Amino acid sequence: MSKKIFVANWKMNGNTEMIDKFSGSKILNSSPKKDIIICPPYTHINYLSSKIRDKNISLGAQNCSHKENGALTGEISAEILKDIGCEYVILGHSERRANYSEDDSLIKQKIILACKNNIIPILCCGENLEDRKNNLSTKIIENQLSILKEISDNFTCNKFLIAYEPIWAIGTGKSASSPQIYEILNFIHEYTYDIFSQLDLSILYGGSVSTSNIKELLTIDKCNGFLVGGASLSLDSFELICESI
Ligand code: PEP
Repeated sequence: MSKKIFVANWKMNGNTEMIDKFSGSKILNSSPKKDIIICPPYTHINYLSSKIRDKNISLGAQNCSHKENGALTGEISAEILKDIGCEYVILGHSERRANYSEDDSLIKQKIILACKNNIIPILCCGENLEDRKNNLSTKIIENQLSILKEISDNFTCNKFLIAYEPIWAIGTGKSASSPQIYEILNFIHEYTYDIFSQLDLSILYGGSVSTSNIKELLTIDKCNGFLVGGASLSLDSFELICESI
C-alpha cells in the first residue's frame, strides 16, 4: 500500500499535556509509510513546533487570515504561521464556512497567501445532507473547487492537499460509504487533473474516521489519506488509525 497522510484536526481542543503525549509517541514517529500532520489551536502551534523538531510529525494550522498583514485584531497571517515553522494549513473547513461565513472568494485569498508563504494548503470541500439527497454532491464540489482554476498561476508551493469532507459525516459517527467516497475522490482527481499536473496533489477523506472504519477506508482507491477530527483527540485512537496501514 502506498504512503498515506493522516491529518489530526484538533479544532478548539488540546493542551500542552496532549502535545507532550503526541510528540513523544513512538508509533506516530516511526513508520516511513505515513505522513502525520498535527493541527492544534493557533496558541499551541509554537509549543508543538518546539517538541517535534527532527521528528516524523509535521506542523499544521487550522486556518489563516485572508489578508497579508495589518489592522486585523485577532487574526493570524500565513506569514506569521510560516515564521513559527508551520508547514500546512487547513482552509475552507465546513465549520468555518458555516460559523464564520467564509465563502469561496475569501478562501481563494487564503489559498493564495498560504502558497505565497510556502505553506501547503489542505483545502476542504463537501456537500450537506440535503445536497446529497438531491444528487448535487459533485455539483457542490465542482463549485467549491472552481476557485482553483482561477488561481492556478499562484500555486508556488509544490504540494497541495484536498480533503473531501461531507458535512453530514463530520462529527456524526456516520462515515460516508466506500463507494460514495470513491465516486467523489475520482471526480476530484478528474476535475483537478489539468490544474495539478505539475504538482504533488493528495486527496484525502474526512468525516467520522475512526478505529472501527479505518481498515475499510484504507482500501479505497485514489484515497491518499485522512483528515481526522474527534478520533485524533485521543492518542490511543489516533495511533491505532495511523497504525492500520
Ligand atoms: C473534521 O471536522 O475535519 C472531521 C473530520 O471531524 P470528525 O473526524 O470528528 O468527523
